[in-house]
Order: sequence, then structure tokens, then C-alpha cells
Amino acid sequence: MIRVRMAPSPTGYFHIGSVRTTLYNWLFAKKNKGVFILRIEDTDKERNRKEFEEDILKNLEILDLKPDELYRQSERTDFYTDHLQKLIKEDRAYYCFCTKEELEAEKKAMEEKGMAPKYSGKCASLDKEEAEKRVKAGEAYVIRLRVPEGKISFTDMIRGEVEFDAGLMGDMIIARNLKEPLYNFSVVIDDILMKISHVIRGEEHLPNTPKQLVIYNALNAKPPLFAHLPLLLNKDRSKMSKRYGDVAVKDYLERGYLPEALINFVALLGWHPQGNQEIFSREELINEFDISRVQKAGAVFDIEKLNWINRQYIAGLSEEDLTAKIEKYIPEEWKINQAMVRAIKPRLDKIGDVKELLMVYFKLPEYDRNLLFWKGEDRDTKNILEKLSAEIKNIEDKEFDLENVTDKITALVPDDKKGDYLWPLRVSLSGSKTSPTPFELLSGLGKEESLRRIQIAVGKLNG
Ligand code: GLU
Repeated sequence: MIRVRMAPSPTGYFHIGSVRTTLYNWLFAKKNKGVFILRIEDTDKERNRKEFEEDILKNLEILDLKPDELYRQSERTDFYTDHLQKLIKEDRAYYCFCTKEELEAEKKAMEEKGMAPKYSGKCASLDKEEAEKRVKAGEAYVIRLRVPEGKISFTDMIRGEVEFDAGLMGDMIIARNLKEPLYNFSVVIDDILMKISHVIRGEEHLPNTPKQLVIYNALNAKPPLFAHLPLLLNKDRSKMSKRYGDVAVKDYLERGYLPEALINFVALLGWHPQGNQEIFSREELINEFDISRVQKAGAVFDIEKLNWINRQYIAGLSEEDLTAKIEKYIPEEWKINQAMVRAIKPRLDKIGDVKELLMVYFKLPEYDRNLLFWKGEDRDTKNILEKLSAEIKNIEDKEFDLENVTDKITALVPDDKKGDYLWPLRVSLSGSKTSPTPFELLSGLGKEESLRRIQIAVGKLNG
């Protein structure tokens, strides 16, 4: 039975790297008819915030990556305590009373001798009953696991054979006390109790894996298979970090990246499908996803690619859906029409850009009369605008759509004078160098507003 988990710590907003880990776990589960578990690792009381847990749950819902089972580590303390006690009873773990100062001094002495620092094992041979008494008397302690020397190796599903030297580790701390296990310990206990078959997580956890394997051994438990996903890199190949606000999923969603587009993009961050296909439905992702085709090398986060993918998904939206989404990003008093939506649809990287793109229809900016001249040269511009204006007046209101307007105006423009006609028309309608085409502007603005704007331009040329 395939059982996988995503185990986020709610210490920050859910970020793109976590979406990728979640997605790969989720796809792996769906593909293998397994179970996808969400385990909130909320044991760090100082850094946890409920707000971040809510952010995780909300975004998983939006991204349609809901878990089959949900757990919180903060509700599972007894399990960790039980296992700590068991290890101490079996003498696989022991209480250590070394103070910070003692450990510091030990470390320094080793470094001076040119040795890699590790715990000397000073408390390893304390009398057990004696140690219990000291704990009961309230002396400060930690719990250490006895780490046998030797090699630890495992086969990572992405990286292949990985080997570590346990001899370098020293007896490691697994808990601050019986009620406060450290991260590596609680993760292993939970992965065992939750019968996790595959641990799929970020490469930053690779150094934890040998420590966790030592714990599995001490507990006589069979470890799961591991897959460590490649780091996410910025375009300059520097490491992408969750410290940058920019990687929070909520920021992307707020800017108007569609959830399906984000998923499609994130799926390709390190995984290479067999063919050249780049746009995948969820069903296709489930069918195609193959963890052995995930690369080892860091995966570059390319925002241009995300924009491109998002445009494909926007292109696939119906006009009604797109209009409803657009309305969330513009002032209430802006009444948008079909012609405007059609004009901006192919130009939208993300829905959040819509206000800027639509602005031209609702506000004519101040502009300099010289801007009306094609290539800076006034060649009968005023007459041309008046001719165009007359033609526009002749088009019936109900025929004022993109096709008809395009036909009527094009018929009027001499082939060798396109710039002389269409440039000033576009500038008079938009007041700007860059904008949708004059035909898109006309159909979006409507007859009355178009004529008013052309009149303003003519006025500038009179002045
Ligand atoms: N809680 C860990 C984190 O947020 C992940 C633990 C794991 O996947 O093993 O980075």
C-alpha cells in the first residue's frame, strides 16, 4: 500500500517549493492508488502560527491538492514520549546532563586537535538508576541516541546510492526532554506509525536522512523509500528561498495566476515528461507523472514560463469566466464589454495586470500633440482624422463591432498610407504609444466615446 505525506511546518506562508513537494506526493499517491497524508509539523511553539496553518490548508484547497488524512504533531506528544521511554528502557538512548559550557569546551578541544567535533560520549556510561534520580530531582537534561559506528547507506529514488559515515555523527540528541522530541525523532515516529511507504521531500532534508535511518535502526523499524527533490533555483541559479516574500503561493494567486496554471508550471519544476507536451490537465499529470524522471540538478524557476503557461490557461477560459475574474481586479464603476475582454485576453500574463490594460478604455491620458504624427511628421494628420471621424459616424451603433469596424476603416485607408491613418487614430483613441489596435479600441470604446476622443485630437491640432 502506497502511503505518502507532506509535512509542512507552519512557520511561514505556504511557498512554491512546498507546492511542488505536495504536488509530487499527491501525484505519486493518485497514480499508485495510494493515500496522501498532510501532517502539520507544529512542534516549534516559538515559530508556529495558526495563520500559517490556515494558509496551508486554504491553498491546498484552492490548488485542489486536498489530503486524504490530516494530522498535527502537537496532538501526538504521547506517541513520542512513549517511544523515548522505550528507547531509554532498552538502553538505546540515555539521559545526558552535559551543560552548554562543557559541550562548548569539548568541541573546542577537538577542533584544536584537528578533529571533526562530535559528542564525546561522556554521559553514555552513567549509571541508569542514578540518571533517573537526577532527572526526577529536576536537573536539566537531553536525551541522546547511541549511534553505532559504520556506514549508513540508502538508495534514493532520484539520486541513487547515498552513503554517510555514522562514525562522524556521535551520539545524537533526539529530544530536549521526554515531552519535547526533536524534529528528526518525531518525523520518524510519525512516518512509522502512519505507515509511510515513500518519503518524498526537498533536497534540503538530505542531511537529515542518515540521522533518521539511525533512529529507524534503533527502533527495529523498516525505513520507507526516500526521494529527495532538487532545489529550486532563481534564474541566475542562486538558491530560491522561502525567506523571499515573492515565493508565497498566496502572492501568486493574488496576482491572478490561475491555480491550474500554477500546478501545471510547478509540475515541470524538475520533472521531465516523456514527450514535448507542456500543458497538462490534472488527469494527464496523474497518468504521466513518473518520479524516476525527476532530475537531480536544481530546477530553475522561470517566471516567463509561468506567464506563458498562465496565458494558455487564460486563453482556455470562456468569456464569462474571464469577465468574472477580471471584475475582481478593477474599480466597480468600470463597466467592461465583450470587445474589451477580447482585446486584452491574449495580452494578459496574469489577471492582476488587467487594470493597467483596461485603463485606456476608461481614462484618456494627457498627451502631446506631436505624438499624433506618424514617425514624427505631420502629413495631413488633421484631415485624415476628420475623414476617419466622418466614416465612423456613418457606422450604425448596432454594427459597431470589431469585424465591421475593421472592414469599414480598412476600406478607407490607402494601402501605402496605413501608418499615416492608423497611427493618429490609435493615438487619439488611447493617448499613448502602446495600446491595443485602433479597431480593438474603437469596438471597446463604442461609437460615441471614440468620436469624442478623436475630436479632442483634432482640437489639439487646431490649437
Ligand atoms: N517539517 C519539515 C519541513 O517543513 C519537513 C519534514 C519532512 O518532510 O520530512 O521542512
